[in-house]
This record gives sequence, C-alpha cells and structure tokens, in this order.
Amino acid sequence: MLDPRRLSIHQVTLLQQCSTPQFVAALARNDVPCTSLWRDKVREYGVEKTARIIADNGIGLSGYCFAGLITSPDRSEAARARDDVRRALDEAAAVKAPCLVFVAGGVDPRDKNIADTRARALDGVAELIPDARSVGVRIALEPLHPMICATRSVLSTVKLANEWCDRLGADDIVGIAVDTYAVWWDPEIEAEIARAGKRICSFHVSDWLADTQDLRLDRGMMGDGVIDLPALRRMVETAGYAGYVEVEIFSQRNWWQRDPDEVIGVIKDRVQTAV
Ligand code: ZN
Repeated sequence: MLDPRRLSIHQVTLLQQCSTPQFVAALARNDVPCTSLWRDKVREYGVEKTARIIADNGIGLSGYCFAGLITSPDRSEAARARDDVRRALDEAAAVKAPCLVFVAGGVDPRDKNIADTRARALDGVAELIPDARSVGVRIALEPLHPMICATRSVLSTVKLANEWCDRLGADDIVGIAVDTYAVWWDPEIEAEIARAGKRICSFHVSDWLADTQDLRLDRGMMGDGVIDLPALRRMVETAGYAGYVEVEIFSQRNWWQRDPDEVIGVIKDRVQTAV
C-alpha cells in the first residue's frame, strides 16, 4: 500500500485537458495532496498567480519541471541556457518547490564529441550550485532514456548521475530524480539506486507500453506496460527515499484525451495496485 499522503500527480499528466486553475481544482476535489508543476504552464498562467492558487488550495509541491539543456558548444548560447536555469530556480523557489528537475541537454550536431558534451554539462551544473543554494532549491539531475540522448539528455543512467554527484561534492543541493520510464531497462539500476541513497530526491512513475508509439508522448499508466514498478519503488525506498511517488504521464493518444476526474481516479487505484 502507498500512503495516500505520498501521492503526487505531475501537472503534465493532465497537460491538455486543464489550465493551471482547472488542474489545481481537480487535485483539490479529488484529495490529491501534491503536484509537480510544469514550467511552461506556470509561465503561461504566471508564477505569482500559480504560487497563490497552489497555496490557497493547500497543495504541496514535489518538484518544478524542468530546466537545463545547457550542452551547447557555443559559449554564449551555453551561458544563456545557464541563465535560463537560474530563472527556473527562482521560479521554483517562488512556487515553493523543493527541487528543480534538471535535464542536461543533448548532443549538438556541431560537436559530436559526447564526452566533451557531458563534461560541459557537468561544468555547467557546477556553475549553478551557488544559485541553487541561494534560493534553497535542489537541482534534481534526471537521467533520461538513451534513445533521447541526441535531443534531450546526455545524462542517460543513474550510474552517470552518481558519478556527476561524486565529482560535484554537493549532495546538500544536487540530487537525483529517478524516473522509472527512463531507467527501468538498466541492468545496473539496483546497485546504482543503492549507491545514490539520500541523493534520490524525486521518484517518477509511469509505464513503458509494449507497443509504444512515441518515445516521449506515449507513456503508459502504471500497470499497463512492462516496468516492474513495485521492484523499483522497493529499491528507492530501501535506499532511504520516503518522499512522494510522482505520477508523470505524457500521453497524447490516451490519457490526455480523457476527463481529468477519470484520469485521477485511475491513478489513485493504480498507485495502490501497480506501484
Ligand atoms: Zn520525470
């Protein structure tokens, strides 16, 4: 059983059905205690207004998603990208999110050297540490599936995230987001989650559909795919994680087409039976 107070539903799960006020109202009327906010939606509605509506409805925050993409080989582009992460850290602080989900960035066609790309990303995170500390928002390094290494993230495994954390030496302010959709396939996942321990600051669940149509926008509901979610939850909890179980489902063809209350109802059931 999952303590219902540990449920968080990521805003992206109802991305197309709900404006931010509609989303917050849907959480409140369904007794969902927590969310992770989607940055585009927050900026569209307004950071201050979002902070107020979240607080007024007594909704907690498990994260702010996302910022990063700092791997450009062009120095001024990379500097602008880091500035954008600083703005995201400020926004996360304004809405009272404990962490900012950080997506490293992909491989630039101008520079196909993936080792250099990873080194630039790590150096960029190091530069952002003082900014994160000054606003009290943890940078949650989120490894993403290697199929999106070109476009989104050269940080592909929890092992690599652990190596970056070892190098950064800033476990107080840099943690790791474990997204089951991104890491379930990894033969080293159990050992690396154990190694991550208290670095794990965010745990995201959805499912990998056997007939997935789109790597990014066709995530499945927990229980509908091939991920052993209870095993992954056991791993993070054994490692010391006791925080929110955050449901994060991008689903163009299915869940984004459904009524918000129906989606939330299915989620509340599946976190008890399939996670
Ligand atoms: Zn995630």
